Amino acid sequence: MSSFKYKQKKLFVENISVFNLAKRNRTPFYLYSGLQIKENYSNFIKNFKNINPLICFSVKSNSNPYILRFLGKLGSGADVVSYGELLKALKSGIKPNKIVFSGIGKSEEELKLAIKKKILLINIESESEALLINKISKKMNKNTSIGLRLNPDISVKTHRKISTGKAEDKFGLSKKDILSLCKKINNMKNLRLNALSVHIGSQILSDNPYKKSLKIIADIIKKTKIKFKFIDLGGGFGISYRKKEKKIKLKNYSNLVNNFKKKFNCKIIFEPGRSIIGNTGILVSKVQYIKKGRNKSFIILDAGMNDFMRPALYDAFHNIIPITKTNKKIKGSVEFVGPICETTCKFGRYKNYQRLNENNYVAISNVGAYGFVLSSNYNTRPLLAEIFVRKNKNKTIRKRQNLLELIKV
Ligand SMILES: *Cc1c(COP(=O)(O)O)cnc(C)c1O
Repeated sequence: MSSFKYKQKKLFVENISVFNLAKRNRTPFYLYSGLQIKENYSNFIKNFKNINPLICFSVKSNSNPYILRFLGKLGSGADVVSYGELLKALKSGIKPNKIVFSGIGKSEEELKLAIKKKILLINIESESEALLINKISKKMNKNTSIGLRLNPDISVKTHRKISTGKAEDKFGLSKKDILSLCKKINNMKNLRLNALSVHIGSQILSDNPYKKSLKIIADIIKKTKIKFKFIDLGGGFGISYRKKEKKIKLKNYSNLVNNFKKKFNCKIIFEPGRSIIGNTGILVSKVQYIKKGRNKSFIILDAGMNDFMRPALYDAFHNIIPITKTNKKIKGSVEFVGPICETTCKFGRYKNYQRLNENNYVAISNVGAYGFVLSSNYNTRPLLAEIFVRKNKNKTIRKRQNLLELIKV
């Protein structure tokens, strides 16, 4: 997170002191760096420079409209998974010809909107979905551009709750089903089979599973002899949540994709979420109380699992950093917990953490992806504000939810 740095022991986001923001805004709140988003986006492009891919940012990872607009201006398209995300992407200025729609359970209403707007691709995950899209398209007198999502049956070393490319996972179609569906689609006159797509999971730190699925795609193309306009290789690129965590090396994979593209003469699509937005945000929170436990101290934050769910949902590790550093240490262990009445409302345990006092601020790091979007009103708590920093300016890009509205009956 090169945009989040300490200057004289105080945490800064770009040119702004997080402490000053925390003093002026009610905690907890999400805080993003525009510079970091820009850097991540251009690094991604750089990795795949020769390929000139279309990047469809995965809107489910962060759907703040200001951020979508910001990414749209950098050239990004969108990968959406619901009616709401599709509308949001369009309203944020992303053109339909840069939008792909993914998901196994698209409703008729969602499909109608996607067909009407003539988006780039609807990625289909079952034969029934193909039939329904064909039926709706016929009624609306449209030809609809579709892709087929492959489930390559590859195991990926990631948390079992975020793997999507094993045969036992609900996503996509097996190679065998794709081969037979390709034939059947010939008779679905209102469909244009333009793409194969694959997305094997999230927070993937090795390029091996990507290479494997590329092979399977090549095999399908050879067997079907279809000239697909687009090959959509999904997202899933991991980031380093821990200091020592290895980074995914994309050079090798990038070369393979480049050869693939030359061989099959297709446009490549990627759908990154986490790798674009994950390290661009922190959650700023205040220490409400400190209480001694049996063999550790509890540091009770004002942020709860409803505000940031990943640790409770996936046992995710997110480093918690102080807003103001000191050299004094707390002896023994501390555990950061939130106020929600659930045992899983906790954010991590540390040894020899620096001294903290009640009313100090801390930041939960790397919360840009699957952070705010997963938050809820559990315990009747309002959704948080989101603040965006660029250079020495800050802007509230989402107001904290109004409590009175929330408790209306
Ligand atoms: C969630 C999702 C992505 C984004 O995954 P990341 O791990 O955030 O890059 C891309 N494509 C599809 C189909 C998804 O469901």
